[in-house]
Amino acid sequence: MSDQLSFTLNAPGGSMSSQDIQHEKVIIIGSGPAGLTAALYTARANLNPLVIAGHLFGGQVSLTYEIENYPGFPKGLSGQELVELMKEQAERFGARITMYSAVTEVDFSRPGGPFYLKTDDGSQYEAEAVIVTAGATPRALNVPGEKELTGNGVSYCATCDGFFFREKRVVVVGGGDSAIEEALFLTRFASRVDVIHRRDQLRAGPTLQQRALANEKIHFIWNTVVEEICGERAVTSVMLRNLETNAVTEYPTDGVFIFIGHDPNSDVFAGQLERDGFGYLVTDKEMRTNVEGVFAAGEVQDRLFRQVATSVGQGTAAAMSCERWLAARE
Ligand code: NAP
Repeated sequence: MSDQLSFTLNAPGGSMSSQDIQHEKVIIIGSGPAGLTAALYTARANLNPLVIAGHLFGGQVSLTYEIENYPGFPKGLSGQELVELMKEQAERFGARITMYSAVTEVDFSRPGGPFYLKTDDGSQYEAEAVIVTAGATPRALNVPGEKELTGNGVSYCATCDGFFFREKRVVVVGGGDSAIEEALFLTRFASRVDVIHRRDQLRAGPTLQQRALANEKIHFIWNTVVEEICGERAVTSVMLRNLETNAVTEYPTDGVFIFIGHDPNSDVFAGQLERDGFGYLVTDKEMRTNVEGVFAAGEVQDRLFRQVATSVGQGTAAAMSCERWLAARE
């Protein structure tokens, strides 16, 4: 039995023949700024890349209301606009994008390839090279009530859900750039925004801090954590613990927006690619993973910077390394 068939026959859901496998030169997993940039560069190198977009086209940035720090756009633009422009540019040079399909299983066990991938729409692929740009997912608080009330007052996306909180009170959990940026956005709708932070200093950058501190609708609850989110069908309050006094109080609110960082979307690569202690894929300067022929870029491998601009740079580097690697083999 060939290696290829052993992968497909072991698949959950039954066996498939090798004819069912779509052959590709380069597959890019993910459609955020890193993935779309890798698509642009590999397309321009005539590699005819296929992007497997995942279920949120454009990744996390597509949910960002306004991006003010991506060079070249001095007036800012929305995340949705930016990823649509990146898509248009990549497609202009021949990149193909499969929407609403996510990779569920990979076989990268042969260094140098070929590499095998399966997606949740039942497709199977064989690729000569792979660029992983699977991004990251917002972290949950993991407190009682959070799961039950997600979509009913608990949210991880102010751009998506802020509108539903017109003239209501909301709390924002976290003290980083995301929390403060989203708190500012929420002041467009909510009557009051309380930022609940576990320390007495924000992690967010100075510009955002100044804007938040100057905003009359934003209030800060320092040295405090959320221990429970309460409500039957919708959020009505949160239980807060003050970390200095240990006092627990019930605080009324209509919504809880959680921005406490992210986890890389790397579980599907467990046992296939090297990951660090936080789950980020390990790459070298040339964006190579530990498996020859598999490259990675963007937030799935970047714990430090996590900017659109850095993801774009890493996507460029991964695509160039991939192109050089394929050329050297030919
Ligand atoms: P982050 O910088 O890791 O901040 C996470 C925040 O959540 C921190 O304030 C942290 O508290 C808090 N936190 C973490 N776990 C918690 C828990 N279990 N309970 C309560 N609080 C918790 O994450 P981020 O804000 O999503 O930003 C990630 C990266 O993206 C950063 O590099 C950031 O600069 C970048 N980013 C940039 C922009 C921009 O430039 N406009 C916008 C968004 C994000 P501590 O402070 O105590 O650790």
